[in-house]
Amino acid sequence: MIDLHVHLIGHRDRKVNEENVRSFLGRAQEKQLCQIGFSDHDIYWEDLNFNLIREVASEYPELQVRIGMEIDYREEEKDLISKRINAYPFDYLIGSVHQLGGWLFDFPEEEAAHRMRDSDELYRQYFSAVEKAASSGLFDIIGHFDLIKIFKIRPRTDVRKLAERALEAVKDHHLVLEINTNGRYKPVQEFYPELKLIELIHQMEIPFTLGSDAHESHVVGRDLAEVCELLRTVGIKNIQGFQMRERQSFSI
Ligand SMILES: [Zn+2]
Ligand SMILES: [Zn+2]
Repeated sequence: MIDLHVHLIGHRDRKVNEENVRSFLGRAQEKQLCQIGFSDHDIYWEDLNFNLIREVASEYPELQVRIGMEIDYREEEKDLISKRINAYPFDYLIGSVHQLGGWLFDFPEEEAAHRMRDSDELYRQYFSAVEKAASSGLFDIIGHFDLIKIFKIRPRTDVRKLAERALEAVKDHHLVLEINTNGRYKPVQEFYPELKLIELIHQMEIPFTLGSDAHESHVVGRDLAEVCELLRTVGIKNIQGFQMRERQSFSI
């Protein structure tokens, strides 16, 4: 099992030091992961410390430790993002949409603003931003694909229809989608993406990866064994890890 969505410093709640890296890797070992990837938010660029992570990782020879980043995709910053990405030896990059026109829509206090909007319009706007992220050519993985459902507000139109073009962009650009278990702990109380999207994504032959979106070490690997079982029932046999931006397939 693998977990590629892990925030070593959370929301800058702690420093990148040996003790913290060890607490995450120790947890990964307890959960019997074979690969863990750190993917801190791109607003914390200056906290990146490849050497320190690699040094501590050498104490865990059975664990493949990868370093990526979760990038909040804003189209107007595409060139800047591209420049930064190329300056570091990342194993993989997650492209995520957390904001729409500057509106940070996934903060807990934003639920009322969601309810004031037309649900279909909200989903259309969100998936159009995801489509742009997928088409940017910058990423390997699209994070929490249906994050817009966070407050359990459903669109009137079938979500598969609303997500169609974003999924086509994911497929055309050879990206991987993650099953992100953190949604279970948000008002929507289900994984990202939901089952009917997982089934459609599988039909489209888009590969999957796994992420807990842990912002603390005890969350590493959370619910991922259950996800593997779910994926097997859908007929999915492999998930994708990464090394130096190349995929590595793991059977589940
Ligand atoms: Zn995210
Ligand atoms: Zn995240």
